Amino acid sequence: MLLATRNAHKAEEIGRITRALGIEWVHLGAFPRIPEVEEDGATLEDNAAKKAVLPARASGLWTLADDTGLEVSALGGRPGVRSARYAGDGCDYQANNVKLMDELKGVPAAKRGAAFRCVMALASPQGQVILEEGRVEGVIAEAPRGAEGFGYDPLFFLPEEGKTYAELPADKKNSLSHRYRALEAMRPHLEQVASETGGVLRTASQRRASKCPICGLEMDAWHCRELCPGCGYQIDCSDPF
Ligand code: IMP
Repeated sequence: MLLATRNAHKAEEIGRITRALGIEWVHLGAFPRIPEVEEDGATLEDNAAKKAVLPARASGLWTLADDTGLEVSALGGRPGVRSARYAGDGCDYQANNVKLMDELKGVPAAKRGAAFRCVMALASPQGQVILEEGRVEGVIAEAPRGAEGFGYDPLFFLPEEGKTYAELPADKKNSLSHRYRALEAMRPHLEQVASETGGVLRTASQRRASKCPICGLEMDAWHCRELCPGCGYQIDCSDPF
């Protein structure tokens, strides 16, 4: 299956959490011609679906993508769907964390509640989508703590653990996080697709690979697409499985 994220932290977390499922993930790097998806949806659901559907249609592979937002009660649910660009277009994680601390300056501990919400989208090559969600409640710390993880992890404090996400070892975060919960909800769908896709991949690999009309290299066969490993030229199969 294709894992449609360009965020290396997320790819690593999803890879670790799903290790036991035995899925062989293909990454977007294998499809250099798939354009970047603009995350301009009004909701996490819209963005997650968009991030999964375009690569699924283009690659012919079942595709998993997620969209995640930090919803802070004192900010009326912001930054939410705008969590990545909270401090402005092209901002980095640190700028987002500084803005969050600034906006919550003077807000007492009891009113600093927040939730991480992760929406996972699993798209079929025909563009149908299954959505599942995982949510974790926490509190926004007054100052960053810990060096693990990424994004808002140093500010997301879990009262039951007495630690921020960034103070937890990776395996611990991956056993309780919003992403873990969303993947747990998605697990039955992944298992079903994995068993079906096993058949599809066997069939695809038995197909006679053609030669690239541009550079003459042997094309890689992917479900209902063929891709040239040299120049990226793609052919749609006329006989989808
Ligand atoms: P995206 O739009 O799903 O890529 O994520 C939006 C933003 O949320 C990212 O840029 C990160 O700042 C933040 N984010 C997503 N997942 C996590 C997480 O697991 N921990 C901390 N921050 C996260």
